Amino acid sequence: MTLFVNRIVLASGLVAGLGLFTAEASASTSREDGLACIEKFYNLDVAGGALEHEGDVLVGVGEGDPQKEVKLIASKLSIFIDYTVLDCDASDNANAIHVTQKDQLPQEYWDRDFIIYNKEWFKSKLQTDRSGLIFVLGHEFGHLVNNHDSFRKNLSRPQKELEADYSGACAVGQLGEDWHPLEALLTDIRSVPSPNYAPLEESLAWARRGYENCHGNDATGAIASGYEGIRVVYFPKEADSGVVETVLKNKSVQYEEGASAFEFASNGMTCTNDIDFTKVRDLAVALTQAGVKLYWINKALNELHVDHRITIEAEDGVQDRWLPLSVEQISCMNSCRWWTSEVDACAN
Ligand SMILES: [Zn+2]
Repeated sequence: MTLFVNRIVLASGLVAGLGLFTAEASASTSREDGLACIEKFYNLDVAGGALEHEGDVLVGVGEGDPQKEVKLIASKLSIFIDYTVLDCDASDNANAIHVTQKDQLPQEYWDRDFIIYNKEWFKSKLQTDRSGLIFVLGHEFGHLVNNHDSFRKNLSRPQKELEADYSGACAVGQLGEDWHPLEALLTDIRSVPSPNYAPLEESLAWARRGYENCHGNDATGAIASGYEGIRVVYFPKEADSGVVETVLKNKSVQYEEGASAFEFASNGMTCTNDIDFTKVRDLAVALTQAGVKLYWINKALNELHVDHRITIEAEDGVQDRWLPLSVEQISCMNSCRWWTSEVDACAN
């Protein structure tokens, strides 16, 4: 049996795609359609499971304008996760796909992130509705950076969509677009009841919070960092691939480097409660959006007698205990204390 047939058998609507589906879309993009586009893009020989190369270039890979535009927007948003952008006629607008083992693609595609988009939709949005385009892309990246198809796959679909709406609105705010067109767009696409989406009011509330939290947080660091007087310490690790440094530099945060005892990636932060906690939160959100998986934020131990300090560091074995914090969980945190994904920071 070929891989292709296997996958169709597995499909049966069990695995939901994560795209942003407009209410009007009658036939929403299925995960299967998206995976078929990934296969086509790489010219996968589905029977043999092998990649066909032409020299160093994978057949079918082209850097069109939309790809460049997506990458430009993502870089302005300081999103540094590893992802591939490709066009897909089966997509109604844009979708995020995190390929897993279950998807029956060759192993080299497992755990890879894709943004797929409809070329016509993209071009028309780019010309007529930049804010809407940023929202949709921010929403889709939100699914990826919040690990909705991997570590946090058991979250309910409506909750994932709320988190993605937060991220989309954050993107719109971060790139300096107005709130009202976004509000109108959300009212349009979220007002038809659907089992996949929370009620409009909830979506608007999350989007509003995302927009406000991110508005003015210019990723280029044009605004004064606001971290003056706070000692920020980072323990560099090769496993971080330079992402933490990039985020700190983009936010114009002066920092010191410590010597790390671990070789695995940074996974948490500490704070002291004599500083404005929003600074800790903003940095945690920026790191998470950039693809750093933060599992905990903790108040520095009293016996260390430290003050005015933020650290970005690693702790052993956290993956066994918690899930990575989502952008939204972090955005609900309001004081320097012990935070993990076990604490419902967004509960009233
Ligand atoms: Zn979505």
